[in-house]
Amino acid sequence: MFRASVITLFPEMFPGPLGLSLAGRALGEAWALETHLLRDFATGKHRAVDDTPAGGGPGMVMKADVVARAIDHASPEGDPRPRLFMSPRGRPLTQTQVRELAAGPGAVILCGRFEGVDERVIEARGLQEVSIGDYILSGGELGALVLLDAVVRLLPGVMGHAESGSEESFETGLLEYPHYTRPQLFEGRPIPEVLVSGDHAKIAKWRRAEAERITRERRPDLWAKKQG
Ligand code: SAH
Repeated sequence: MFRASVITLFPEMFPGPLGLSLAGRALGEAWALETHLLRDFATGKHRAVDDTPAGGGPGMVMKADVVARAIDHASPEGDPRPRLFMSPRGRPLTQTQVRELAAGPGAVILCGRFEGVDERVIEARGLQEVSIGDYILSGGELGALVLLDAVVRLLPGVMGHAESGSEESFETGLLEYPHYTRPQLFEGRPIPEVLVSGDHAKIAKWRRAEAERITRERRPDLWAKKQG
């Protein structure tokens, strides 16, 4: 079973959308989720989880000692799971990394808030920074949900058809070909002739050509990598 442990100031955000549909049905079967409230690891009268940035500047920084205690509790010595920190500075999440995670025992995920987290706990606890894209969220929770959604759908038994997955965008290094379903005519637009021909070899060839065209047009970066 894939075990996810999430450290957050907002445990109410979990499982959230992952409690529904395929992921929700598989929760407790193919995967397990636990949340740890960061504030439970704070000390002192005010249970502060953050403090002002050294060197000045706006915003607040999550305290190294509080985060360290939460990580040590969620992921004691010997826990084989990778420790991830959702962060816009991180390595951008890819389908390859999602596959690697899905093949492993789970993940411990720290969700940031405020300006960020004291650098020393990132180093001291070997946190791998993971970004879900080049934009700024207000917290790591939605990032963690995105990552977990991508992982959970790959776990054995979660998706209906084992092969739906293997042909999808990024799995082949190409974006996906276009899909159509009935009716045959929609607002004057027919389904491409070849798809209703019943000729499976021709259909496969057409889909491949469309996938290549769309990748070339929309993602020259992916196309160059595919050629390279
Ligand atoms: N000051 C930071 C942004 C902080 S946003 C900077 O300029 O880099 C607050 C928190 O939201 C971050 O600590 C991180 O956990 C989360 N977050 C924001 N954008 C993200 C992204 N693109 N991917 C993953 N996590 C993100």
